[in-house]
Amino acid sequence: MSKKPPAPKKEELPPAAPAAPAEEAAPTPVKKAEKGKRVKKHKEEKGVHAMYKIEGNKISRARPTCERCGPGYFMADHHDRYTCGHCGFTRYKQK
Ligand SMILES: [Zn+2]
Repeated sequence: MSKKPPAPKKEELPPAAPAAPAEEAAPTPVKKAEKGKRVKKHKEEKGVHAMYKIEGNKISRARPTCERCGPGYFMADHHDRYTCGHCGFTRYKQK
C-alpha cells in the first residue's frame, strides 16, 4: 500500500483580459466633482400625523391646539411660546 500524494493540479489560468488600452489620450472633460451625498437630517416628522400619538386607545396631542381656531389647528412649538400659524394667536409657555 503506497499512498501517492495527489499531484498538485496545476490549472492554467486563462490569460488575464487585456487591460483597456491606455493609448486614448483624449482629454476627458473635467466633470464637476460630485459633492458627497448630503445626509439629510430627519429633524422632525412632518404632517399632522406627527401631532398625534396613539397610546393604547387614547390619542394624545403633541401640541396644544389653538383656542381661537379650535381643535384641529395645532400651534407651533417655540422655545418660549406656542403660536398659531392660522390666526397668529400666541400663548406663552408657563414656567
Ligand atoms: Zn389660531
